[in-house]
Amino acid sequence: MSSHAEASSDASPQPVAVVVGGGLAGITAALALADGGMDVTLLEGRPRLGGLAFSFKRGDLTVDNGQHVYLRCCSAYRWFLDRIDATDLAPLQDRLDVPVLDAERNRLGRLRRTALPVPLHLARSLATYPHLSLAERANVGRAALALKGLDLTDPALDERDFGSWLAEHGQSERAVEALWDLVGVATLNAVAGECSLALAAMVFKTGLLSDPGAADIGWARVPLGELHDTLARKALDSAGVTIGLRTRATSISRTENGRWAVEVPEGPDSSGQILTADTVVLAVPQRETYDLLPDGALDDRERLLGIGTAPILNLHVVYDRKVLKRPFFAALGSPVQWVFDRTESSGLTEVPGTAGVQYLAVSQSAAQDDIDEPVAALRERYLPELERLLPGARGARVIDFFVTRERTATFAPTPGTGALRPAARTRAPGLYLAGAWTATGWPATMEGAVRSGVGAADAALAAQGRPRGHLFREAA
Ligand SMILES: Cc1cc2nc3c(=O)[nH]c(=O)nc-3n(C[C@H](O)[C@H](O)[C@H](O)COP(=O)(O)OP(=O)(O)OC[C@H]3O[C@@H](n4cnc5c(N)ncnc54)[C@H](O)[C@@H]3O)c2cc1C
Repeated sequence: MSSHAEASSDASPQPVAVVVGGGLAGITAALALADGGMDVTLLEGRPRLGGLAFSFKRGDLTVDNGQHVYLRCCSAYRWFLDRIDATDLAPLQDRLDVPVLDAERNRLGRLRRTALPVPLHLARSLATYPHLSLAERANVGRAALALKGLDLTDPALDERDFGSWLAEHGQSERAVEALWDLVGVATLNAVAGECSLALAAMVFKTGLLSDPGAADIGWARVPLGELHDTLARKALDSAGVTIGLRTRATSISRTENGRWAVEVPEGPDSSGQILTADTVVLAVPQRETYDLLPDGALDDRERLLGIGTAPILNLHVVYDRKVLKRPFFAALGSPVQWVFDRTESSGLTEVPGTAGVQYLAVSQSAAQDDIDEPVAALRERYLPELERLLPGARGARVIDFFVTRERTATFAPTPGTGALRPAARTRAPGLYLAGAWTATGWPATMEGAVRSGVGAADAALAAQGRPRGHLFREAA
């Protein structure tokens, strides 16, 4: 790490901030604090930025650790993309269009929107959705209206599970599978029966019932690392942020004169030092936050340990030919959940001896049952399923098959979790928390991470009497 942070002294006229954690929350906080005029150092334990949304090389492929998508309603993440000059690299669909393939009935349905106002924008799609009976479709409409009427500020919603609420509102098992879980598992990382009603209601109200275009889907057409590492680093450099990679903070404590001391042990890029700062933003996962938080910074620090985690598994398959024409689809009646064509975004062009090549990523959320399965067992289970769903895969040769496992991909959105998620402000002046798991009101998403970073920076800048730079507005 450069000596930028070391050089800062108590006499510095510019307030000094240290941000710990270089995921989306930490990157956002660092950018926002620098934009607000602070002298910022960002510490990241790994050799790259991007946290849980990153890429790595495997031969000629650039692989994302897991398929990531966002929605048009993710206004903070869209602000972030703009801030790092990456909007064109992660475009949105013109209009929501999700092909849904039922493996058992061999039938394709579409979840599409029109330009009509909410809730009519989905009415035609729901009316013709072939995976539900007429009665089920009518019941879905009624439940959606009931969901729209829920008051998200009511703390009782977080105590209930979404599954029992759906059952109470006439939703059949099939409707839960073919609609509510199809969307909910991918966005919340839990099945309805294990998900807080508050979080589920927030997702469905915001995504499907707020604005006609809210659920239009966007995804990166380049590797995630190009956005969250390369371009984020460029933006941080331009903003004057000092970045310390491979630099883990090991303790945070108060100095005698009321500032903060962040200890960084000796490492490949750092000679070991204590950074002093007026402001510290801790943007690390809940367990690391628990370990680093000084005594008294939260009323009940133990509650952080009550916030569980949930896994996401991605299966990566390279075929010797094109087997999927669409950019992605969701599956029913199969263990396969969502399948994405990653060929272009991974940089895969051609493989000698093949007529063409295609790289698919199968994204499996709430993957508790599969996350520890050996690769061979996953291969045996999922390749025949892909052949069942995609006739083109039946005669195709599999050139490569591998898996990426994220055991702590998100916080577990179980009922009662809302009360455990802490706000950005702590009881310790100058010390703030960020991370997708903090109290953003959102599930663990890129949007939640960015919102948390903005929230922490906003609180820090206000405490310093600093202007808000060009911060994203809604999160304030
Ligand atoms: C496979 C997968 C698929 C996903 N799909 C989606 C999706 O489709 N859409 C979506 O919106 N979200 C998705 N998510 C969730 C999203 O990636 C996360 O919510 C978001 O990236 C979390 O960002 P964060 O900054 O809060 O935390 P993190 O990304 O966890 O960042 C924390 C950082 O802190 C660092 N750190 C920890 N301790 C220290 C220390 N002591 N010192 C220095 N650094 C430290 C870590 O190395 C890490 O880089 C997915 C996640 C995964 C894993």
